[in-house]
Amino acid sequence: MMKQKKIPMRMCVGCREMKPKKELIRVVRSPEGIVSLDPTGKKPGRGAYVCRSGNCLTRAIRQKQLERQLEAALSEEASEELKSTLAQIMAQEEAAGTDDG
Ligand SMILES: [Zn+2]
Repeated sequence: MMKQKKIPMRMCVGCREMKPKKELIRVVRSPEGIVSLDPTGKKPGRGAYVCRSGNCLTRAIRQKQLERQLEAALSEEASEELKSTLAQIMAQEEAAGTDDG
């Protein structure tokens, strides 16, 4: 009789906590082997999730969890690219969410 809303949960590869999917951001390795952020969650390829925080992304990269999860090698350049893209996305979302102040 208990009605439960099913919230899709995913594990952050940075802090390894299970979180609702919408609180995480997807990192995807394309079929061509390119690793990039996937804010829409719809890109084809092998995916991993991190919290929407630079800390978890940095940790996932440093501890090689991202590479392991994606089965892809991540160059320093690609890592920096991911971090700056995440920072941009978060800045955009912050800007979009500040019209109530
Ligand atoms: Zn996390």
